[in-house]
Amino acid sequence: MTAQYTTIESVDSFRDRARRWLKENLAPATEYFVGAFDEEVWARHRELQGVLFEGGFAGICFPKEYGGQGLSVAHQRAFTEESLGYEMPLALNVPTLAICAATLLDLGTEEQKRARLPAVLRGEEVMVQFLSEPRGGSDLAGLITRAERDGDEWVLNGTKIWSSGAYAADYGLCLARTNWDVPKHQGLTLFLVPTAAPGLTIRRIRQVTGSVEFCEEFFDDVRLPADAVVGEVGGGWAAATTLLHHERAAVGGSSPYISGDQPRLGGETDTLIDLARDTGRLDDPRVREDIGAAHTMRTVREQLIEHVSDAIAADRMPPAAGSLVRLFGAETNWLQIDSALHIAGTAAATGTPEGPGIGQVGIDYLFRNAGSLGGGSTEMARNLISERILGMPRESAADRDVPFNQVPRGR
Ligand SMILES: Cc1cc2nc3c(=O)[nH]c(=O)nc-3n(C[C@H](O)[C@H](O)[C@H](O)COP(=O)(O)OP(=O)(O)OC[C@H]3O[C@@H](n4cnc5c(N)ncnc54)[C@H](O)[C@@H]3O)c2cc1C
Repeated sequence: MTAQYTTIESVDSFRDRARRWLKENLAPATEYFVGAFDEEVWARHRELQGVLFEGGFAGICFPKEYGGQGLSVAHQRAFTEESLGYEMPLALNVPTLAICAATLLDLGTEEQKRARLPAVLRGEEVMVQFLSEPRGGSDLAGLITRAERDGDEWVLNGTKIWSSGAYAADYGLCLARTNWDVPKHQGLTLFLVPTAAPGLTIRRIRQVTGSVEFCEEFFDDVRLPADAVVGEVGGGWAAATTLLHHERAAVGGSSPYISGDQPRLGGETDTLIDLARDTGRLDDPRVREDIGAAHTMRTVREQLIEHVSDAIAADRMPPAAGSLVRLFGAETNWLQIDSALHIAGTAAATGTPEGPGIGQVGIDYLFRNAGSLGGGSTEMARNLISERILGMPRESAADRDVPFNQVPRGR
């Protein structure tokens, strides 16, 4: 038998190639990107993702058979470093690539992976998550959207909320209850739902910040084929656990599936320095202390991301360790936003919201709790760290081993 060797390009050579390609093919980033907020931005980012795909730089850590590059986390990091400062398809990072495509890669059937992943990597399809419900998102296993089997099909009924970017999506990963006779974690199934399915209504939600990124969805007898199930029927909790690990890594900044900038949790020290200069407070000792503290948090956060992602990749830490970076990212974000508000003072409420200047400080402040809720709340991250990483006893739950149809609800 002849041994076969596959040569993987060195990170240095890949970095050089990426640097040259980026210079020739992408424009410098001109806009301060605060989140995808209209159809035009989505169309542009889909197009940019196609450019990355054609250039051989899409899905660096996705396997080649599904349209990716089959390279390592170190290659991905090098590409991200080189791509900072260029116009990148950031809207497709979270949740499409880092959460939904990553979950499909782990759990999808061969047909699902071959049908969806190359389309996502080419920028042709956007995916979102249909998890949270109006009754609460932290107790995800207690959800009440139902899917019932009808011949070869499933029929979905219920309501989801806080789905980021659903109005611009092609597919949503939807967790639904398929069995009410078993305890809550055992009766769930994950489905891949086309957003164009008859019976699915998507409405955008306007927030106090002016953003209309969040959506709510109403499922009225939405019919899905049997092969819409992702993972096992009744195995929805295990599937959701996989998805949530990817989500915490994405939100915390340690996902290997993100190109370009990471999500904004943690912020930039330079923004605070610019703000202090613009407001004439650069010499104020209190302001300098705030900037120093924010810079320290940011530096520690970057090292934590590297340490935890390497440890998870090498099986030295469980995937739940993504909660560590998720929690630290939220704390860093909170400190950054509060420091910016202290520096800007009343100007934070009077500036214009465009751009990273003073007006944006007020908008960021209005949205700051989101950093402690998105990707599961900070309190839930603390629970996970104590139970899954430190091995402390589980939080007590009166509904844990009770068939779900016997759990009192609606009070
Ligand atoms: C930016 C952002 C993006 C989001 N994107 C999506 C998305 O794409 N798809 C989606 O489905 N959802 C999304 N969400 C919703 C998010 O998952 C929920 O906000 C989150 O799970 C918390 O749920 P909730 O808001 O219903 O709060 P609740 O679950 O009602 O919790 C309220 C408060 O009680 C605390 N709490 C609850 N249970 C416990 C407990 N056992 N121990 C200690 N404290 C507890 C929570 O920490 C929180 O502070 C997003 C949210 C944000 C902010």
